[in-house]
Amino acid sequence: MLVSQILKSKSDDGVVTLPPGTAVARVAEVLSARRIGAVVISPDGKMLSGIVSERDIVREVGRRGSTCLAEPVDAIMTAKVVTCSRADDANGVLQKMTDGRFRHIPVVEAGELIGLISIGDVVKARLSELAMEKDALEGMIKGF
Ligand code: AMP
Repeated sequence: MLVSQILKSKSDDGVVTLPPGTAVARVAEVLSARRIGAVVISPDGKMLSGIVSERDIVREVGRRGSTCLAEPVDAIMTAKVVTCSRADDANGVLQKMTDGRFRHIPVVEAGELIGLISIGDVVKARLSELAMEKDALEGMIKGF
């Protein structure tokens, strides 16, 4: 299964982005309102400046308390973002997520952000692929 197929299967393929300099409190508000776990930080919705996940916010609040909420997200985001392409295989992406211990990966094409997939999207796609393989195998066995 390819990343492009996972993107197509998602009901909403738009990526939620916020510009650098956004306050951490605003990021938390967007994560909560959109029911998502990570936001891409981008000045124009295309170029990646970083990624910030709920874990980054919880870690910082736990470490320094609520003062960090008024500060720009730039200090707590991950600036070195691991990305994938539309043509990548889902198993390879799952491996990247497992090795890097993160659950979100932006999809980039020609240097521009075109989508984002979560570990949940990959697992869902893999489960439906396995269900189809099971049905096909059962069909073959019953056909004999
Ligand atoms: P997550 O599991 O996605 O909530 O993120 C766990 C940690 O990895 C956080 O510090 C994120 O900022 C970071 N992170 C999330 N996605 C990526 C990614 N694609 N590349 C690099 N770091 C990431």
